[in-house]
Amino acid sequence: MAFEGLTSRLQDVFSKLRGKGKVSEEDVNEAMREVRLALLEADVNFKVVKDFIAKVKERAVGQEVMKSFTPGMVVVDIVNKELTELMGGTQSKLAKAAKPPTVIMMVGLQGAGKTTTSGKLARLLQKSNHKPLLVAADIYRPAAIKQLQVLGEQIKAPVFAMGDQVSPVEIARSALQHAKENGNDYVIIDTAGRLHIDEALMEELKQIHETVKPDEVLLVVDAMTGQDAVNVAKSFHEQLELTGVVLTKLDGDTRGGAALSVKAVTGCPIKFAALGEKIDSLEPFHPERMASRILGMGDMLSLIEKAQQTIDADKAAEMERKMRNAEFTFDDFLEQMEQVRKLGPLDQILEMLPGMNKVKGLKDMKVDERQLGRVEAIVRSMTKEEKRKPEILNYSRRRRIAAGSGTSIADVNRLIKQFDDMRKMMKQFSSMMGPKGPKGGLK
Ligand code: GDP
Repeated sequence: MAFEGLTSRLQDVFSKLRGKGKVSEEDVNEAMREVRLALLEADVNFKVVKDFIAKVKERAVGQEVMKSFTPGMVVVDIVNKELTELMGGTQSKLAKAAKPPTVIMMVGLQGAGKTTTSGKLARLLQKSNHKPLLVAADIYRPAAIKQLQVLGEQIKAPVFAMGDQVSPVEIARSALQHAKENGNDYVIIDTAGRLHIDEALMEELKQIHETVKPDEVLLVVDAMTGQDAVNVAKSFHEQLELTGVVLTKLDGDTRGGAALSVKAVTGCPIKFAALGEKIDSLEPFHPERMASRILGMGDMLSLIEKAQQTIDADKAAEMERKMRNAEFTFDDFLEQMEQVRKLGPLDQILEMLPGMNKVKGLKDMKVDERQLGRVEAIVRSMTKEEKRKPEILNYSRRRRIAAGSGTSIADVNRLIKQFDDMRKMMKQFSSMMGPKGPKGGLK
């Protein structure tokens, strides 16, 4: 999946740093050398890498970092923030015309995913109750008009087409009129692409631009093509004044260079990311989420890998089924705790899970041998029914269990709370993993 190499490289660098109580300037320099290599290997533009490293270094060797309690974490945080900045800082939203319809011109090279993305964008707009009109202005690629019509049918969005004998400029002009008459508040024009940028293509795009005066000119680029995508973006931008970029095929094993360089090189924000061939696979691009994904997913992946190595697959599948069906009981809890214990210290595991620090109560959940013995005693003092339905554990039952297990009511209460928290965590974990494992699949 996307960014895999980059993520694991960065993860290695940071786990070294995180392990240190004190971080010297030399440590930061060493880490930055490795980050620099990782970014270059991920096909990030050379100049972008240079500027990025300089910025991170400047902040990281400052006094505050050196003096902080967790200098390694502070460096990771700085990298996270700078990565976010690199990709545009905050989400760049789609423009909206003061007077509808908002006109969006989709441009790009052939095969980048322009037609598919036009359909996906229409779908996304429909979801927020808009009425987009798709316009088939690619009259050169033989199947383009039909492809757009099929997409339109699939999502029940109107497609404006005039065949392949009318000029794209005329099609665009008529489409705009059609949208006004039919109450379409967005017009998405799928223009023609070429295998390479050429004069004729640019001339035609400029004419369409001149005619429809679009609110958005979105360049669709294939993230898999790395620096080529960035160069294409630069050329288009010089001639057409793009308003945004759509990165497609982020579901593939792109090294990530395009995502990380395109904003810095062209000044154009990435507005959307496409992560699959399905019509629903277009998402607004959030730089901050992408940055933490680049930095954090590695942790997630390593946790899953670790789990796969340690945990009995059949048992895990059974456990997962139980969690999904809300059949997770105290017996399972006990077993799960033992399994988790095999993975390593729980606080470290939780650190690997993005968002887990937000689940209240988990911070205090330390698993050590002694406590596990206590947990076991408490669970064994419960009746079958209590194990299955913890919600019936009222005060008198808790008191009985405490007495039976040689623990205190406070211990019992704590365990029940942990159980609840664990259930919450499992729920969060399983929704994150999706029905078929981690989002995007694990390679
Ligand atoms: P166009 O020539 O730019 O209009 O490109 P198309 O829309 O025809 O897309 C070219 C190919 O890329 C098609 O096979 C699409 O299914 C595929 N494609 C487009 N976007 C994505 C994406 O985000 N992920 C994947 N895996 N494939 C995509």
